[in-house]
Amino acid sequence: MGMPSVFVRTSGCNLRCAWCDTPYTSWRPEGDDWRVERILEEVDKYPARHVVVTGGEPMIAREIIELSSGLRERRRHITIETAGTVYLPVECDLMSISPKLAHSTPAGEWAERHERLRIQPDILRRLMADYEYQLKFVISQPDDIAEVRAIVQKLGALAERVILMPEGIETAVLRERSLWLAEIAKREGFRFSPRLHVDLYGNRRGT
Ligand code: SF4
Repeated sequence: MGMPSVFVRTSGCNLRCAWCDTPYTSWRPEGDDWRVERILEEVDKYPARHVVVTGGEPMIAREIIELSSGLRERRRHITIETAGTVYLPVECDLMSISPKLAHSTPAGEWAERHERLRIQPDILRRLMADYEYQLKFVISQPDDIAEVRAIVQKLGALAERVILMPEGIETAVLRERSLWLAEIAKREGFRFSPRLHVDLYGNRRGT
């Protein structure tokens, strides 16, 4: 949080969260096809040493292994933001895993596939074993914490690596949810994360 970082956003996702805040990478994926070398050249233009690879789901992006290797050669600190449903042997300093809770499941034709895929315990355990990790849960309502507790217990994750973040793209909604969520985080011994980019810039692309 607060570390100056370059963000690389891949388009395409194997899930379809009902509240996805980047539908242009999931429900209606868009974007240009860039070669790895071009992405690395763009990253080189920024002074930040930290690079966050996000999505969509970056772990299904073609050439994600090559991209991570290129960042490693440049001695960048690499964070990968993933829902934790796919394992690949990427280069990564922090695997920021965000398993999706039941409230993410949409109505309609994607419901069955999303529900079947959203929690993959074996893959989550492998990512947690092979990488420095954090588990970030998107929370809509206080009752969500029961599901978080069950997942954390099943995975044997350390409470200090669990982060609770309010769901929402509007400042007023985030403010209201942050107040009760911070209390839950204190009670459970989990960490709390605001949505800094929304607080600073509003829900705008490219921030
Ligand atoms: S996993 Fe992330 S990118 Fe994919 S649908 Fe859910 S919120 Fe959107």
